[in-house]
Amino acid sequence: MSSSVEKVIIIWSGPAWHTAAIYAWRAMLEPLMFEGFLAWGVAAWGQLTTTTDVENYPGFPNGIMWPELMQGMREQSLHSGCRIETKTIERVLLSQDPKNVPHKVRAQWEDEPRLATTIIIATWATAKRLHLPGEDIYWQNGVSACAVCDGALPIFRKKHLVVIGGGDSACEEANYLTKYASKVTMLVRRDAMRASKVMQQRVFDNPKIEVLRNTQATDILGDGQVMTGLKILNNTSDEVSEIEAGGLFYAIGHKPATSFLDGQLMLDEAWYILTGHMLTGENNEVTWHVWNTGTSVPGVFAGGDVQDKKYRQAITSAGTWCMASLEAEHFLQ
Ligand code: FAD
Ligand code: NDP
Repeated sequence: MSSSVEKVIIIWSGPAWHTAAIYAWRAMLEPLMFEGFLAWGVAAWGQLTTTTDVENYPGFPNGIMWPELMQGMREQSLHSGCRIETKTIERVLLSQDPKNVPHKVRAQWEDEPRLATTIIIATWATAKRLHLPGEDIYWQNGVSACAVCDGALPIFRKKHLVVIGGGDSACEEANYLTKYASKVTMLVRRDAMRASKVMQQRVFDNPKIEVLRNTQATDILGDGQVMTGLKILNNTSDEVSEIEAGGLFYAIGHKPATSFLDGQLMLDEAWYILTGHMLTGENNEVTWHVWNTGTSVPGVFAGGDVQDKKYRQAITSAGTWCMASLEAEHFLQ
């Protein structure tokens, strides 16, 4: 397919895309969006497709089911004049001088690259899962990878809940879950926790949290409808036991979807895209600019979970998308 140069190509389809589309449309950028086709094994429309109702997106006093929320956003994007193609971007070839030599992106099933002066990337970070026996049956029926998103749901209220992991996320999630749970047990696979001392202390100070060290889950148990417990292994004594539990939350880290960038953008040590700066000057030195969503390559902006290892919420993703769209507009001026 031959390609004219697009002003802005958006690689993403998560919950904030309507924000980008609206802002890009108001700036008359005629955005082209690749929403992904089972990118990383998840349906287009983003991580919210893996949950049920969303209770913390403003404007919906009684919460909203994700299909309704995402469909509304998609319609709003189309209504705003955004063109949407259901394809995954497999490769990019980024330019250091995109106003003269455009960036190239190659979409699934296409031989010829598409060309663009600016690209906005928001290809997310996926929560890691253990894929334990029983997980497929009880995923979203007791098993989750996001306590802030799901912890307040009625199925978890006043139940014994289990968090797997010993990092900052696990500590934060365990503390958060004690608002709803009767008790929270953390399963830590080693003798030591990776979390910062202050986060560990908050866990130890919370009387509703128990920490089991050197302990791994091996099976998720249930009645065929909802999860009811876990089989666990003490990996020093090899003792196997069963515990009753109404919920399991993975907090074992996230993996940002950045491999398709092939090392062309600066990433941090955990593979998240670094934003807030751009490479400029003849020697490509890093200088800090007012760009909040700018990356290490001129004209490439990033928003959402792929550049955010701390907040990872639909609303924070929407905020960075607004910024990315406005900054792409400024870059094109
Ligand atoms: P995503 O929404 O994940 O979207 C990324 C999209 O990019 C994907 O659809 C994918 O198809 C597409 N993509 C990826 N790679 C490519 C590619 N190479 N080419 C083209 N497209 C590509 N947050 C809340 O605020 N409230 C909640 O209730 C809530 N519940 C959650 C429940 C669960 C189970 C999970 C996992 C998360 C939840 N979150 C919730 C977090 C929220 O979903 C994320 O913070 C938000 O979706 C991040 O948006 P994003 O746009 O960065 O990424
Ligand atoms: P981390 O990678 O820091 O921790 C992951 C945890 O999960 C570790 O305890 C790890 O154990 C454990 N784990 C990994 N794989 C497995 C497995 N297969 N089975 C059992 N346990 C496993 O991820 P986080 O999401 O906690 O944190 C990511 C980054 O975000 C960190 O830099 C963190 O500081 C930051 N963060 C900061 C917060 C804050 O400041 N409030 C809140 C949340 C995150 P092991 O140690 O043995 O590898």
